Amino acid sequence: MSGWLIGMRRPAALLCTFALMLLSSTAYSAPNLAAGATYYGGYHTVVGHEQHNAAVAAAHPELVKLYDIGDSWTKAQGQGGHDIQALCITKLAPDDCALNSTGKKPKFVLHAQIHAREIATGEIAYQWIDLLVSSHGVDPEITELLDTRELWIVPIANPDGVDVVASNPARPLLQRKNVDDSAGECQAGYPGVDLNRNSSFRWDANQGDPCTEMYPGAKAASEPETVAIQGFLAKIFPDTKGAVDAPAAASTTGVFVTLHSYGNDILAPWGYTRTAAPDQAALVALGNKMGGFTGYPVFTGDGGIGYLTPGSTSDWLYGTRGVPSYTFEIGPRTGWCAGFLPPYSCIASTFWPLLKPALVYAAKAAATPYGQLP
Ligand SMILES: [Zn+2]
Repeated sequence: MSGWLIGMRRPAALLCTFALMLLSSTAYSAPNLAAGATYYGGYHTVVGHEQHNAAVAAAHPELVKLYDIGDSWTKAQGQGGHDIQALCITKLAPDDCALNSTGKKPKFVLHAQIHAREIATGEIAYQWIDLLVSSHGVDPEITELLDTRELWIVPIANPDGVDVVASNPARPLLQRKNVDDSAGECQAGYPGVDLNRNSSFRWDANQGDPCTEMYPGAKAASEPETVAIQGFLAKIFPDTKGAVDAPAAASTTGVFVTLHSYGNDILAPWGYTRTAAPDQAALVALGNKMGGFTGYPVFTGDGGIGYLTPGSTSDWLYGTRGVPSYTFEIGPRTGWCAGFLPPYSCIASTFWPLLKPALVYAAKAAATPYGQLP
């Protein structure tokens, strides 16, 4: 992580003001700052998220640790780009929020915007961060969570892709993948690797060619973003899974939610096959509890979306660590807040009120996801 990120100290509430953006532009030189902190009515750019992450870490040192967990593809090429950032939020005690699996507090991980054009997802992560850092000692339920859980957030898993989306602020571009064009130019469609098909669990070469939306990359975990996310999750969750087709250890702790759009449903493992996961009943039971807050039904296999998803992040984490892992598809298929690019007002009016209690519940459930649910 760069020094300018850590050194910033300013009130988060002022981050979006124009005057502060001008002030910021003289304070340090980040290559993408010209894009501004927001686009399309209020959505945060990657720079906006980075400023926010740094601001909450600086303002709440008793609650927040901010990590650089790896590079975007462009940064790995030495062409600008971004660090992938992860925050850990808890009432910090010694050894809390370390990048290892020895922490005593169960972990809930919220992971967003691995598909860049699914723009509501990063905003939900942003709202979740603000809720957590503003609620300790204020809201009894969130205070209890912060005292007993590690709340990890990766707000932007695909920052290069989000830069592309936000490069047209009034009409965001529909970039889904990262921007790795090493497989060559595209006559139609966009180059890039689908990071949610690139994991090293059940990676499948036959998901599409380099110019299609689900191109899985030249090999499993070929992309630096995948290496960053897998490396991060492998550090914080112990390896207790055993064989792929064996159930998770009953003592497994943790819950993982990756946010996508759209469909108003929850996808639980497996995504790569229609065969039931060894813990399918428990995975669906917890999914149904979370879905009770959002009204989202729970599907496995190709249910809900109509196709299989080999190489996904959530299958990788459940398949290698046993951690219950879910894909939330935020947003309806029709209507004012539908699709990849809902108006920014939909975050506050529709999505956040549904997601907030589901995420609080997921964090509570991280203590005993295969035991007695809260
Ligand atoms: Zn997606």
